[in-house]
Amino acid sequence: MNYQEQAEKVIMKTYNRFPVVLEKGEGVYLYDTEGKRYLDFGSGIAVFALGYHNEAYNQALKDQIDKLIHTSNLYYNVPAIEAATKIVETTGLDKVFFTNSGTEAIEGAIKLARKYAYLKDPTKEYEIIAMDHGFHGRSQGALSVTGTKKYREGMIPKGISAVFATFNDLEDVKSKITDRTCAIITEVVQGEGGIYPANQEFLKGLRSLCDEKDILLIFDEIQCGMGRCGAMYAHELYGVKPDIMTLAKALGCGVPVGAFVASKKCSSTLVAGDHGTTYGGNPLATAAVSKVYDLFEEQKIIEHVREIGEYLGEKLDTLAQKYDMIKEHRGIGLMHGLELKPEVSVLEVIKKALKQGLILLSAGNNTIRFVPPLIIEKHHVDEMLSILERCL
Ligand SMILES: *Cc1c(COP(=O)(O)O)cnc(C)c1O
Repeated sequence: MNYQEQAEKVIMKTYNRFPVVLEKGEGVYLYDTEGKRYLDFGSGIAVFALGYHNEAYNQALKDQIDKLIHTSNLYYNVPAIEAATKIVETTGLDKVFFTNSGTEAIEGAIKLARKYAYLKDPTKEYEIIAMDHGFHGRSQGALSVTGTKKYREGMIPKGISAVFATFNDLEDVKSKITDRTCAIITEVVQGEGGIYPANQEFLKGLRSLCDEKDILLIFDEIQCGMGRCGAMYAHELYGVKPDIMTLAKALGCGVPVGAFVASKKCSSTLVAGDHGTTYGGNPLATAAVSKVYDLFEEQKIIEHVREIGEYLGEKLDTLAQKYDMIKEHRGIGLMHGLELKPEVSVLEVIKKALKQGLILLSAGNNTIRFVPPLIIEKHHVDEMLSILERCL
């Protein structure tokens, strides 16, 4: 069968896919159906933190498949309890709700924040402050707080859109707070928007604002969390705690699972009947989450990210100085971006790299996004750079 032709016949064309059919993976390499090897600096969009074909991870899933895959949330199950315990212990937050995706984690966080304000005063129409160029997902609720206009246009009723402020501009956020503001949502490092880390002052300022006015602070760590930035959660690097945090992407390292996690202040806001999901937190997904936390610890992933992340950062700095077509290098840990000048097309660079066996992602603003599996080694960084330089 010609897979690509068949795909275009039966799968909705909501993506312009690259002409590659991926079949299997090993460590930080992927292989297509023709046996060609690719060095992966995309990780399935910051998902496969532990690399492909990780035997311990795979075995944990196989064991769970043979025991029990699904129960619904009408009963307790052991993997969900274990996974939630690990999340609570590592975040210092209070309670977890498991979802099937990042988008749904955002939906839950938004519902929680609205209900929290509603319980204080049910007469008001509440609104959320979100950031320009922020990304939170594609459902109507998640789109309502997503800062890229083209994603929202024609997709959601105008009235449900959030109030948008400039990322890293505390004064702008301040000027938009009213007595109807129930939450402020932001990524700690903007991913989709082009790899923009938050400033220390900005996050600290948001925390003070929210404390002062009893507004909930939501950190979306779906992309920047789970070790990606050299701490288990990126906000640790800033010493600023959210009231609600969302996780997904690398949380299950490939099994579709997300979560929103709430602090003591608001962890009892949603009560029985307020929110639900059939699959969310099922034993297969949460066995994956649990194993991910164990392997992060066993393999000292955070320390590794710090070391390799610094190496990658230095190399990208050097590259940015060497090539006139590179406008700027931004990043932290193993989450980096190279913004190219407008006259150079990122897509062209990415296509060339793919031909030469290197998978790279793009992000907003003509930026090459580097989000490799967290287990990469220095020689993989060197290999990536030699291919990238040829493409530039
Ligand atoms: C990917 C992403 C989402 C959406 O997650 P899905 O699993 O695609 O629904 C939300 N927020 C951020 C920061 C993301 O990177």
